[in-house]
Amino acid sequence: MATIGFIGLGNMGLPMATNLIKAGHTVRGFDLSEDQRKALEAAGGDTASSTEGCVDSVEIVVSMLPAGPQVKAVYGESILPKVADGTLLIDCSTIDVATARAVASDAAAKGLEMVDAPVSGGTTGAAAATLTFMVGGSETAFDRAKPILEAMGKTIVHAGGSGNGQAAKICNNMMLAINTIGQCEAFSMAEKLGLDTAKLFAISSKSSGQSWSMTVNCPVPGLTETAASNRDFKPGFTAAMMLKDLGLSQDAAEQVHAQTPLGAEAMQLFRDYVDRGHADTDFSGIIKMIRGDGDF
Ligand code: NAD
Repeated sequence: MATIGFIGLGNMGLPMATNLIKAGHTVRGFDLSEDQRKALEAAGGDTASSTEGCVDSVEIVVSMLPAGPQVKAVYGESILPKVADGTLLIDCSTIDVATARAVASDAAAKGLEMVDAPVSGGTTGAAAATLTFMVGGSETAFDRAKPILEAMGKTIVHAGGSGNGQAAKICNNMMLAINTIGQCEAFSMAEKLGLDTAKLFAISSKSSGQSWSMTVNCPVPGLTETAASNRDFKPGFTAAMMLKDLGLSQDAAEQVHAQTPLGAEAMQLFRDYVDRGHADTDFSGIIKMIRGDGDF
C-alpha cells in the first residue's frame, strides 16, 4: 500500500481519494476549499494546508484539478520542486494535450515519471470506483500507475505516450456532448409527438439509439436512478466543464485539420447554455434550452 498526496478534492477528486482510502492506501489531500478538505477527513483521510505539505514525502501524487492552467501552476510551482526522487506523478484532470506533454517533460527533466490519466464515467463512476482511465506515458510509468488507478476505476487503458490519454479524453467527450444533445432533441420531440418518454426510454435503451447519455445520465428525470436530471441538474459534470472540454477538442481539431462539424455545433450550444447563466448545472440540463423551458 502506498502513501499518496491527492490534490483537488472536488466533485471527482473527493470520491476518487475516498476509494484510495477504502483500498488501504494512506491518503493526504489538499484542496483550496476548506469544506472539501473536511469532507476528506470525514472519509478517513489526512489533509494538509498547502500543496507542498500534501506532497511532502509521499510515494505517489494524484491530481484532479479543473483545467490546464491549474495543472501547470500547481506542478510547476509546488509539486515538481517539492516531491522526493522516485515519486510517481498521476494527473487525472482533463487538460490540453500540449500542457500535459509540457508538464510531463518538466517532470522528466527532474528524473520523475508522470502519466496523464484523464477519466470517463462521471461522479457516479468516481463514487463506485468504475471509472475508465485513459493513460498517456511510458510503459514503466503505466505499469506503476495501474494498481493505483485500479482502486478508482474498472477499465485502465494505456493510450500511448505522454499526452495520448488527453487525446483520447477530448475525443470521448466530444462524442458525449453530441450524444447528449441527441438525447435532448429526441426526448423533447417525443414529448411533442405525444410519445411517453418512459416508453421511448424502454425502447431506445435496448435499441440502436442507446448511449451512456441515456442509460446513465438521461436528461429526462425519473428514467435512470443515477441521472442528474433527478436532482434538478445538480452536477455531476458541469456545463462549464463540458464547454471547456469542447474548446479543447475544437482547438485540437483545428491544429490537426480534422473535420468536426457536430463537435463545433455542440460547442456553440453549450456556450449559449453557459452564457445564459447555467455554467454550474449538470451539462445534461441543456435539455431545458433545447426544449425551450422557463427562462429559455
Ligand atoms: P470541481 O470543480 O468539482 O473540482 C476541482 C477542485 O479543484 C475544486 O474543489 C477546487 O477547489 C480545486 N482546486 C482548484 N485549484 C486548486 C489548486 N490550485 N490547488 C488545490 N485545489 C484546487 O471539478 P471536477 O468535476 O471534480 O473535475 C475535475 C477534473 O475532472 C476536470 O478537469 C474535469 O474536466 C474532469 N472530469 C470531471 C468529470 C465530472 O463528471 N465532474 C468527469 C470526467 C472528468
